[in-house]
Amino acid sequence: MQKVYDVLVIGTGIAGLSCAIYLKEAGFDVAVISKTAEACECNSFLAQGGIIAWNPEDDPKLLYKDILEAGCYYNNTAAVKMLSETGPKQVFDFLIDKIGIKFSTNDSGELDYTEEAAHSKRRILHYEDHTGDEIIRQLLAYAEKIGLKILTSHTSIDLITNNHHSADKQEIYKKREVMGIYVLNNLDGCVEKLLAHKVVLATGGIGEIFQHTTNPSSATGDGLSMAHRAGADIINAEFVQFHPTALFHRDIKRFLISESLRGEGAKLLNRDGKEFMGRYSHLKELAPRDVVARAIYEEMSRTGADFLLLDLANYYKGSEPIEKRFSKIYNTCLSGGIDITKEPIPIVPSAHFFCGGIKIDLNGRTSLKNLYALGEVSCSGLHGANRLASTSLLEGLVWAKNVAEDIKENFQEIRKSRLENIADWETPKSNMEEFDPLIIGQDLQVIKLTMWNYAGIIRTNKGLERAKADLNYYSHRIIKFYKEAKLNRSIIELRNAIITASIIVDQAIHNTKSLGCHYIKN
Ligand SMILES: Cc1cc2nc3c(=O)[nH]c(=O)nc-3n(C[C@H](O)[C@H](O)[C@H](O)COP(=O)(O)OP(=O)(O)OC[C@H]3O[C@@H](n4cnc5c(N)ncnc54)[C@H](O)[C@@H]3O)c2cc1C
Repeated sequence: MQKVYDVLVIGTGIAGLSCAIYLKEAGFDVAVISKTAEACECNSFLAQGGIIAWNPEDDPKLLYKDILEAGCYYNNTAAVKMLSETGPKQVFDFLIDKIGIKFSTNDSGELDYTEEAAHSKRRILHYEDHTGDEIIRQLLAYAEKIGLKILTSHTSIDLITNNHHSADKQEIYKKREVMGIYVLNNLDGCVEKLLAHKVVLATGGIGEIFQHTTNPSSATGDGLSMAHRAGADIINAEFVQFHPTALFHRDIKRFLISESLRGEGAKLLNRDGKEFMGRYSHLKELAPRDVVARAIYEEMSRTGADFLLLDLANYYKGSEPIEKRFSKIYNTCLSGGIDITKEPIPIVPSAHFFCGGIKIDLNGRTSLKNLYALGEVSCSGLHGANRLASTSLLEGLVWAKNVAEDIKENFQEIRKSRLENIADWETPKSNMEEFDPLIIGQDLQVIKLTMWNYAGIIRTNKGLERAKADLNYYSHRIIKFYKEAKLNRSIIELRNAIITASIIVDQAIHNTKSLGCHYIKN
């Protein structure tokens, strides 16, 4: 009998790693999988601004109110209440006390709580302006210390279910259960069958299906698409948050310019050097993300500009030197010839965060038995129609613990004889075609442009219908192409990207009302 893991966790971001650490320490046989060669290549690693944490001057009720306001009251109030009450303390218990992260401090040596848009209190802890990489580095170091098994360069292809993959035809008539995954070893091109009593999807976001994104290229919606194919419920997919300010530079991939710059005073200027946010919101630069992103988009359309400016140099309110407080942004911009202590930064809005996802409850359970989801791929309803800044790292942490506890309390093994009936991966033909990477790149580019133009920051009914028709056309071609191709990571991602894009467009068409980051102009 092949090895059966207690739990397989897909994803090495904050959600997957934290959950796997909790599980490993609870005595489970757990493996974590990442499709990238380096476990740190994920959205979590790129987080800059910080993470909401407990501040004695704060109140869970205020955080609850702020999350609901940002989410346009479309949120699941139970999820918001649970995170507001338990999450901020967990940053201390888990990240600071257990993992050993030393967040930035002020001149008096106290933790430096920073302010961000739409937060009524200073409650964000940060590590200079590269919080995510410090968190992921430390989580990986801790994982190594406790002997957590991490398989990198392994791309999960599909969830294994009893209904779809058992040789015992009686399984078709049973309730659907997840029993593992088929996974491609990127290095040798072989597909392995990994069996597990529980599977946890923590595969992150979908930004890479849009033309401009702050996300890494691995954010192709794999987990969402896999769960959809297996039959899990997906909700709120129309709510895609666009970050108002990514660096616009010919030679640097869209790089996020954190909103904490605006929290520390930076002003948005049009190309005439004039402030304009007052015309779009009384909160000006500190208005919620979607409002700022649309304002920039409209100001760009109105003036025909392909980027606008963010001026920190002339408006900075902080006490620390800019080079230290925003070291990563400073160095990245400087590498492109822009000195942010002296001149404004060219910016464009970019796809940033997915508020929808695989439907989960407070314990991370999906609609499929034995399948959990958490982090950006999941949707508990926490964010409603729009996300409050710096909530998502905390979301990953909170659900990591809840999922681990739920598994601990309810763990049951799947019967051996049932697992023995799961089929090996079938390669349809012996001589599968190797496709030119240029063709795959071209198809992905078409998806990205379609989503940017027709399902982006400002949507119209006509545009969404056009997107649906175009995606439908490409979908047939890509799925056929996938079936004929020799599998590699790019082809798997391409199939997931077209399925993810189609889910988003379908749900956007279905929800005819503008709300939060789903904005329809008719
Ligand atoms: C530039 C940037 C800045 C941000 N700043 C902040 C911030 O300051 N504060 C905040 O709270 N949030 C911030 N966010 C959002 C936050 O970083 C993410 O929402 C969060 O980190 C998501 O974590 P995750 O663990 O769910 O996913 P990720 O960190 O994206 O991890 C996903 C993992 O899944 C793996 N994976 C995906 N598909 C497969 C597959 N098919 N097979 C195997 N492995 C797979 C990936 O390789 C990766 O390891 C920021 C996001 C970006 C992009």
